[in-house]
Amino acid sequence: MLICPVCNGIVEYTAICPICKNSMKVLDRVEYYYDEYSLNQEQDLNDISKDMYCSHYCYCEMCNKTIITKVDKVKE
Ligand SMILES: [Zn+2]
Ligand SMILES: [Zn+2]
Repeated sequence: MLICPVCNGIVEYTAICPICKNSMKVLDRVEYYYDEYSLNQEQDLNDISKDMYCSHYCYCEMCNKTIITKVDKVKE
């Protein structure tokens, strides 16, 4: 079974901001925000890749930007 290391607190996952290259804060899973966001850029959440990745929001304090990153799931 594959699990998300971030959701399970296994590793400190660090995302790098594509704009300023600073490390970003990893926030909650994208699924938690289904009601508030239209996931136009994440339509593949419904396909099979959903089982391979866990989508999380990441926040860059430098750019004040939130992006979605895919975290590779690992074997339990
Ligand atoms: Zn996760
Ligand atoms: Zn940034």
